[in-house]
Amino acid sequence: MTHARTTLRLPADAAGEAQAARILREGGLVAFPTETVYGLGADATNSRAVAGIYEAKGRPRFNPLIAHVASIEQARREGVFSPLAEKLAQKFWPGPLTLVVPLAETASVCDLARAGLPSIGLRMPAPKIARDLIAAAGRPIAAPSANRSGHVSPANADHVLADLDARIDAVLDGGACAVGVESTIVALLDDRPRLLRPGGVARAEIEAVLGSALAGADPSDSQPLAPGLLASHYAPGASVRLNARALEPGETGLDFAGQLSGALDLSPSGDLEEAAANLFSALRRLDAAGATRIAVAPIPAQGLGEAINDRLARAAAPRP
Ligand code: AMP
Ligand code: MG
Repeated sequence: MTHARTTLRLPADAAGEAQAARILREGGLVAFPTETVYGLGADATNSRAVAGIYEAKGRPRFNPLIAHVASIEQARREGVFSPLAEKLAQKFWPGPLTLVVPLAETASVCDLARAGLPSIGLRMPAPKIARDLIAAAGRPIAAPSANRSGHVSPANADHVLADLDARIDAVLDGGACAVGVESTIVALLDDRPRLLRPGGVARAEIEAVLGSALAGADPSDSQPLAPGLLASHYAPGASVRLNARALEPGETGLDFAGQLSGALDLSPSGDLEEAAANLFSALRRLDAAGATRIAVAPIPAQGLGEAINDRLARAAAPRP
């Protein structure tokens, strides 16, 4: 359940920024302006805070969120920058370009923010107010668009409040956003840079810097993205059985609210937000422990349960 709260409209001055940063550090939700749209920000290192994003948006599935940073140095602590990634960051940051790179060993961003992936999407937004906020918070900020799921992205603070009033802690009111379209997303995970989503920085501008063509996201591309090469969804190595009321021989349990005895429990108290926060790390833990068959206890379908069940159903689906 989303806890009804008063949503503060904070001014874009030093005091407003300081308060917004404090709320983020304490695990709260703050919408803030970027040059593309208003983002719904949460501490990307705090899985409970990130679960709150899904709760507030009413988003029915987990996808990896972009982690917003205040500097290239901060980005390098989270992701591994190849020379090409470095080149793109130097040229287009701050700006509407998201770079998807391998996760660094020093990364602090939580599993839920990455939807369990071993890669991370990073971006440095252009408005000074956004970068100052992230710097003051002192950690990467996960931020999808600040609207209810299925609604239009917000370009000003009024749009944010129309959708999320009483569902988030604050909106930092920095006026209207300039670009209005999403960031361009480029993956640099192997020797072939790929366009995952067109957006605010044009393909041709990026290709000019790279000195070569980008693969992907273009139907005329002679080498389209190989299916599965860039799996956008983490799946455990083990097989998954849903709605298990008891463990069968050879199964490892993944529990919710103490229904299976002796199993790893996503939330012993039956709190769906806690369960969402723990989901990806729990799956990874079971994988790392060598589980071959995971039996998952029934999880209620309301609220965040919808996204949790969506991910588990996909993990349980037959794989090629
Ligand atoms: P947005 O819709 O602007 O919040 O951007 C979210 C999108 O960024 C996701 O749906 C992915 O396409 C992409 N993305 C973010 N992080 C990653 C990641 N670690 N790996 C692959 N894609 C990512
Ligand atoms: Mg959106």
